Amino acid sequence: MQKLNVLGSVLYIVAHPDDENTKLIAWLANGKKVRTGNLSLTRGDGGQNLIGPELGDALGIIRTQELMEARRIDGGEQFFTRAVDFGYSKNAAESFEKWGKQEVLSDVVRVIRTFRPDVIITRFAPDRSAGHGHHEASAILAEEAFDLAGDPKAFPEQLEQGLEVWQPRRLFFNGSTWWKKDLADIAKSDPDWFSVDVGGYDPLLGLSYTEIAGRSRSMHKSQGFGAAETRGEMLEYLKLVKGDRPKTKDIFEGIDMTWGRVKGGDVIRSLIGDLINRYSVVEPEQSIERLAQLETELDKMCSSFSDCWWAPLKSKVVRDLLRNCAGLIVEANSTSSFVASRDSIRASFASVQRSAVPSLTLSMFMAIDRRVSKSMNRLAQHSP
Ligand SMILES: [Zn+2]
Repeated sequence: MQKLNVLGSVLYIVAHPDDENTKLIAWLANGKKVRTGNLSLTRGDGGQNLIGPELGDALGIIRTQELMEARRIDGGEQFFTRAVDFGYSKNAAESFEKWGKQEVLSDVVRVIRTFRPDVIITRFAPDRSAGHGHHEASAILAEEAFDLAGDPKAFPEQLEQGLEVWQPRRLFFNGSTWWKKDLADIAKSDPDWFSVDVGGYDPLLGLSYTEIAGRSRSMHKSQGFGAAETRGEMLEYLKLVKGDRPKTKDIFEGIDMTWGRVKGGDVIRSLIGDLINRYSVVEPEQSIERLAQLETELDKMCSSFSDCWWAPLKSKVVRDLLRNCAGLIVEANSTSSFVASRDSIRASFASVQRSAVPSLTLSMFMAIDRRVSKSMNRLAQHSP
C-alpha cells in the first residue's frame, strides 16, 4: 500500500544472471519503494550447471527462472535482451561482433522505453576494468541507450509499434570496494560519487533489505549460490555518469516521485492516505471497499487526465492488494509440462476465498483472467 504513493523507477543493467546487486535492488524496491527493474543482457546460457545436466539453451531457461524467482523475493522486475551468452568474451568488441551490436542496443532502448526508468544504474564500467567482455558491453550499451531512448530518430520502428520516447534523468555506475579498495575514501571527497546505506530495516516486513537480498541471491541455485543474510549498515557507491548532478546527497534529488507528477493525482494521493491510515492488520478485508474505489478512480485517469502510464500500473497493484485483502487464492493447474508458444493448453482453475466478504469471487476471477491474457500478449510481443 505504501508503494502506491511512490511514482519513481530505477533500471539496473547487467550482462548475466547473478551480476545484479540484489542488496541495491532490495533496498530500492522495498526501502525506497520505487519500481525497480533488472535488465540482464543474457540468460547465462554459456555458464556451468552445478545441479543438473542441462547446458546451453536449457540452462538459459533454468537461469531465467532463477532470476524471476529472485525478483519475486526482492520485489524487482526482470528483463532480458536477445543476446546469447556464448561463454567467456575477451572484450566488448568481440561480444558486439558475435551479438550484432545494433540488435542488442535496440533491445536495451526498447526496455528503457517500455519501463521508463527515472534512473539507470550499471553494474560495470564501460572499459576493460569490467573484466568479461559481456560486462564491458553491458555498460557501453546502457550509456548509449540512455542517449538514444529519448531520440525519436533512434529505432523509430519501436514508436510505430506504440512505444513512446523516454529520457531517463540520470545514469550511475555502481562501483564496488571489491574492485576498488579505496572507494569509500574516494566517495567522501569526489562529488561525482554518492553513497547509499542499503542496510535499513523494515519493521512491517520484519527484515533488513540485506536479509531480503541474501534470500533473493540464493535463488541462483544452478550456480551453487547460497548468499548470507547480513544485517546493519551496508554502503553502496554510485558514480554519476550521465544526466544532471543531484544538488544534495540524494540520488533522486529533483525527481518528483509523488502523485504530483500526474495531473489529477491529488485525489489519488488522498485516497491512498486514507487507505493506509485505516488499514487493519487483523481484518484486511475492511480495506476492500476503499481499494475498489481507488481502482475506479485510477481507471478514470486515463480518460480524464490522459495519464495512461502510472494509473494503469498502480491499478494493477491495487488489484493484487484486493486479492490479498480478500484472502483470495486462484490456482491454475495443468497436466502438460510443456506448451509451444501460441499453442493452447488445458488448465483447471480453483479459487478459495479466505475472508468473510461475500460475492467477490466472480469479479476477482475475471480480473485475473484479464491479466493472464494481457501478460501472454506481452510475452508474445517481447520475446525476440
Ligand atoms: Zn557476469
